[in-house]
Amino acid sequence: MDYPYEEARPKRQYAAVFNVNKCIGCQTCTMSCKSTWTYSKGQEHMWWNNVETKPYGGYPQFWDHKLLEKLGPNKWSSATGQNGSVYSGKTIFEAAPIGEVALGYLPEDKEWQSPNIYEDTPTTTDPDKGPDESVDLVNLPAHTTWFFYLQRICNHCTHPACLAACPRKAIYKRQEDGIVLIDQNRCRGYRKCIELCPYKKPMYNLATRISEKCIGCYPRVEQGIEARCMAACVGKIRLQGLKNSLPEEAEANAENPLNYLIHIKKIALPLYPQYGTEPNIYYIPPRWIPKQFLYQMFGPGVDEALKVYSNMDEELLGVLSLFRSTQKILEKFNINSNQAVGYDAKGQEVIRVPIDEPVIVRPPKYHNTS
Ligand code: SF4
Ligand code: SF4
Repeated sequence: MDYPYEEARPKRQYAAVFNVNKCIGCQTCTMSCKSTWTYSKGQEHMWWNNVETKPYGGYPQFWDHKLLEKLGPNKWSSATGQNGSVYSGKTIFEAAPIGEVALGYLPEDKEWQSPNIYEDTPTTTDPDKGPDESVDLVNLPAHTTWFFYLQRICNHCTHPACLAACPRKAIYKRQEDGIVLIDQNRCRGYRKCIELCPYKKPMYNLATRISEKCIGCYPRVEQGIEARCMAACVGKIRLQGLKNSLPEEAEANAENPLNYLIHIKKIALPLYPQYGTEPNIYYIPPRWIPKQFLYQMFGPGVDEALKVYSNMDEELLGVLSLFRSTQKILEKFNINSNQAVGYDAKGQEVIRVPIDEPVIVRPPKYHNTS
């Protein structure tokens, strides 16, 4: 794939894992971001973090359908998208129209107006066919009537289409953590970043007339603290930190919880990897959704990820127990004596959680009392 800028991989890349199976759609993440960064005039319609109900919801509406249709059918070398399967279709950079650096479109104003449209609206997959049992997920077949919540922030991509698109060179990727930022002094509001970001995560400020986007809560990250949307998550579905950018470096640093989940256990997958931006927010896919939908959304590795997630060992369970146990960014983990231990960048222990919670049975004499 040709990327119009020289690839610059930071040593440590801002990344996160979202466990879709556990999200309760409470929007606490959305509101925590809103009340921190986008409460000013001109930002009324801006939701840097949003949670949309799939398959119908979208912010802006139809963001994924519209680009997938333009890109054409996805082609993976294995129909079920097994690990190791190769994408042979075009990325958005390869499908760029003449004179553009990538394929994209500018959403209409009305498509930004209903950020949680179709909330909790399910769809039905041909009920005559019965549940999709192509993969044995420990007696949990895919449902015929289904929806799920998709949590979305900027992916702080390794090949950011927003950065490539900007004629002012106002967008840059930080070397220290890979966070992608728009220089507010350079931006002139041409909106090319909005047009070419496949995830539609830059947004236009109607008051300042320049573009803005998720800043990865970099002032918090610089202090070793997770972003607001991560720290506020009620469902405990999020773990954010800094991972190695190259898979071989990540494999050599398997004590980092994000490297472990993404590159060793491979249970967390990128959103629409076929776009070619190498997004850095990863998802543990939902277990009850028809597989064809998941293959399109998360690409190769869905079956393998769900198999591992459905048959987890103590180590994996321990790392998942660290989700939302602390606001500090965990650089390292260790599992011993039924406990998961997390360490910060200085190697100091910051959290210790039991993997099996003790079960305490209320004695009969306390029944019917408060
Ligand atoms: S998700 Fe969009 S805005 Fe964020 S880095 Fe990637 S291309 Fe840029
Ligand atoms: S706070 Fe967590 S559980 Fe609630 S909607 Fe956001 S991601 Fe889902």
